[in-house]
Amino acid sequence: MTGHLAGRVALVTGASRGIGYHLSKLLAAEGAHVVAVARTVGGLEELDDEIKGTGGSATLVPLDLTDMAGIDRLGGAIHERWGKLDVLVANAGTLGVLGPIGHLEAKTFDKTMTLNVTSTWRVIRSVDPLLRASDAGRAIVLSSGAAHSCKAFWSLYAASKAAEEALVRSWANETINLPLRVNSVNPGATRTAMRALAMPGEDPDTLPKPADVAAKILPLALPSLTETGKLFDVRKNRFLRYRDPE
Ligand code: NDP
Repeated sequence: MTGHLAGRVALVTGASRGIGYHLSKLLAAEGAHVVAVARTVGGLEELDDEIKGTGGSATLVPLDLTDMAGIDRLGGAIHERWGKLDVLVANAGTLGVLGPIGHLEAKTFDKTMTLNVTSTWRVIRSVDPLLRASDAGRAIVLSSGAAHSCKAFWSLYAASKAAEEALVRSWANETINLPLRVNSVNPGATRTAMRALAMPGEDPDTLPKPADVAAKILPLALPSLTETGKLFDVRKNRFLRYRDPE
């Protein structure tokens, strides 16, 4: 396939629905071979059909990302097959439970942090050498406005997203002199299953579609990107800058 990502390999976590699904389609349409990770085989197969239908290619990886050894094996498999990774989209996530901080159950807290933070770090650790092996490695980690707004009852999700942003910022500072570019993205409220869970009374038709949100995120995967260590705000359609490291 031709396109800005022809001959490149992109790993997308949480590719079975929502933002990850649509971003996977767009990456494939730009010529990338998409390694699509999620638990729901049906969603991955639907994605595969759509990608193949437009002349693209994908490898499906049904994996629960709380399986840390599985993440390590995935990194090993990408290394064996391609020897590099050009694009990482760390998108899989969970809302956990909204509620007063003192009412959260320890099990829920641990489960949410395990997926949103530990597994994101484990994916980063697993593919960092492969992204460094690319001539234009690009990493995109899905964050949320919740990391900054810290609204009442959102403590768990907010803390997990703030932790993900901290991982990204440190990683960007470690790799600042390399071709690798790593950024966080705040997609803003998007018409997906997660949003419906968070805001059951909301009319989904008032929200942007995941396909449109994904289209705004796509440029962060391209070799032409120069920014690193920043937060891309989809609604504002621009990068926000963090404070310089001291
Ligand atoms: P969805 O709930 O629609 O999709 C989440 C994806 O993550 C699914 O593909 C799901 O696949 C995957 N996933 C969840 N748990 C696991 C697991 N244990 N192992 C592997 N994959 C898993 O979410 P969105 O598309 O809405 O969100 C995508 C990202 O954007 C998230 O990080 C979210 O925090 C962030 N975000 C979303 C906003 C919104 O309004 N939608 C706003 C701000 C941020 P499966 O269940 O098949 O495993």
